[in-house]
Amino acid sequence: MGETQHIRPALSGMNIQELERTLAGLPGDAPYRAGQIFSRISRGARSFAEMTNLPGPLRETLAERFSIRGSTTLEKQEDRDGTVKLRMGLAGGASVETVLLVSEPGDRLTACLSTQAGCPLGCVFCKTGSIGFFRNLETGEIVDQVLALSDLVRDRGKRISRMVIMGMGEPLLNLPALREALDILCDPRGFGFSKRKITLSTSGVYRGILDMAKNGPWTDLALSITTAREELRRRLMPGSAGDPLDRIKEALELYQKKIKRRITLEAVLLGGINTTGADAQALADFARGLSVVVNLIPWNPVEGLDFDKQALRKPPPEEIARFRRMLESRGLGVSTRYRRGRSICGACGQLGTLPAQGEDAAVAALPSLSYNSSTDSGSQPR
Ligand code: SAH
Ligand code: SF4
Repeated sequence: MGETQHIRPALSGMNIQELERTLAGLPGDAPYRAGQIFSRISRGARSFAEMTNLPGPLRETLAERFSIRGSTTLEKQEDRDGTVKLRMGLAGGASVETVLLVSEPGDRLTACLSTQAGCPLGCVFCKTGSIGFFRNLETGEIVDQVLALSDLVRDRGKRISRMVIMGMGEPLLNLPALREALDILCDPRGFGFSKRKITLSTSGVYRGILDMAKNGPWTDLALSITTAREELRRRLMPGSAGDPLDRIKEALELYQKKIKRRITLEAVLLGGINTTGADAQALADFARGLSVVVNLIPWNPVEGLDFDKQALRKPPPEEIARFRRMLESRGLGVSTRYRRGRSICGACGQLGTLPAQGEDAAVAALPSLSYNSSTDSGSQPR
């Protein structure tokens, strides 16, 4: 107990080889010890003292030099429907949110993970986009979210059954760290999660999708299309403007060839804006040649967001049903996403913690992002 976080390097973001290198020089057989520690971390160990399968002196040395996790849970909020949102404090003072979604009968537990503190893409309908961008999360900070959410369910003898990369930030602008985190989480010697039970949602970073097709992670993919009317999409998702839909579609075709799984097209429905016949037709045209299901997400209200000087509004049920029929009559499979966690703002697009005080410096220190063209515009709070 009692490791001070943030000072000593954390082990949770290391894969077995990295752990092995870190342990070299300490007493004992490094590969063997690395495997033991890796497995204990994934099973929720919070201190080296509880790793009773390690010799006492090694536990003490480890506790002096390392911490287990690099982030701490600052706040926990629970919704009546079982959704839990955690605010995780990160090194340097930024914070990020992570959510546990509980299915209706309580049997499916889904972890919704964040990949960036804030988001540089500035979609007009999204709370995360409205707070600006602070920094990319590190590998361990992504793994820590799963560890912290697992802590909540372990006592009840449960495990996280699905992961969705749909929290704060654009995952494909932080792909190297995310890839490493998923490799750690999917390693059978630890968490042993299946990539098939992970869905990554992207706003459509073309080069990121190509990178995924080539180098993984080969998870299920969801594209936040919002609308397939290019002009309108550019205005709603200004940070994605550099990636035209025809290129995104090419990348999706390639990715689908690789994973041979259906791709989800997510459309957040903004009342009176993207639910017209033209939107339905454009979506059907976009989907041609791909195997997709369209997921309609009625907009979750976020105060203060507007478009064309008009306050955004959630569409009434009739408007959703009409749009759904228009899509179905064009041969598309459609689902409507349930909106759990509303009362704690844990639902899609409602995540957005302002950074802790004194974090202004982080805003100035924008790291260079991997796929340049699409990230120029959205780094300022809108
Ligand atoms: N940046 C990635 C993943 C996080 S956003 C992406 O954009 O795909 C996850 C989903 O939430 C996206 O499909 C986005 O369109 C949706 N979303 C954003 N704001 C929303 C809001 N206020 N209400 C409902 N869905 C929203
Ligand atoms: Fe970023 Fe996704 Fe929100 Fe757009 S919808 S601002 S890409 S988190």
